[in-house]
Amino acid sequence: MPVVRLLREVVGVVLPVSCAGCGRPDETWCPRCAADLRSVARREGGAPRLDRMDGAPPLPVWTAGRYAGPVRRAVPAWKDGGRADLTGVMVAAVRSAARAAGADLQGVGPLTVVPVPSRPSAVRRRGTDLVQALARGVVEELGGAPSARLRRLVVRRGGRDQAGLGARARGRNAGAFELRGRVDPGACHLLVDDVVTTGATLAACEDLLGRAGGVVLGAVAVAATPEITRAALHHGGKGD
Ligand SMILES: [Zn+2]
Repeated sequence: MPVVRLLREVVGVVLPVSCAGCGRPDETWCPRCAADLRSVARREGGAPRLDRMDGAPPLPVWTAGRYAGPVRRAVPAWKDGGRADLTGVMVAAVRSAARAAGADLQGVGPLTVVPVPSRPSAVRRRGTDLVQALARGVVEELGGAPSARLRRLVVRRGGRDQAGLGARARGRNAGAFELRGRVDPGACHLLVDDVVTTGATLAACEDLLGRAGGVVLGAVAVAATPEITRAALHHGGKGD
């Protein structure tokens, strides 16, 4: 366990807290940074690997914000930087994305909510499954409209972590997932992840569920990489 996290858990309030987005003292997540997780929108446009080569539109992805600026600092701090105090922030963010997804998906049948699996080693290191916590929030938020249930249908086969891999390597990593349990033919699925970058992970999960007869209607996440615009490319290719 990282020393900072240990200290935080043992002595709690004695340690100074600072905003995970901007470092502002005495706040976990300040109002200014919080605004960056209140811009719920469809953001599949920034995830090149979600492009279906057959001309069909990419898998819809609803997120609470862009993976940039304060959000891009806060999410890694939450996942691996000892900032478990941000779980409420992240769950609230994914719930707002789920609200938008639920509104857009009104009228569909029951939804199976499927968390994108984290590596078992990461779950052990963190002491909890963060994406599963997000998925529980999504099911709660949908609140029966449409009716939803959580199923951990996809598991890791033991592939390498995605962080640090290029888009091409992530594509090869697609074989790292496998199904656990039976997919009901024709059942509608909604994927949940923390952050969507290239979309390779979502595409791999969609592929698995689709080949087993399921229908994946979309995904919700806390944040997604901003669409790379011509202007951003001109300025070095980062949407940051
Ligand atoms: Zn802040």
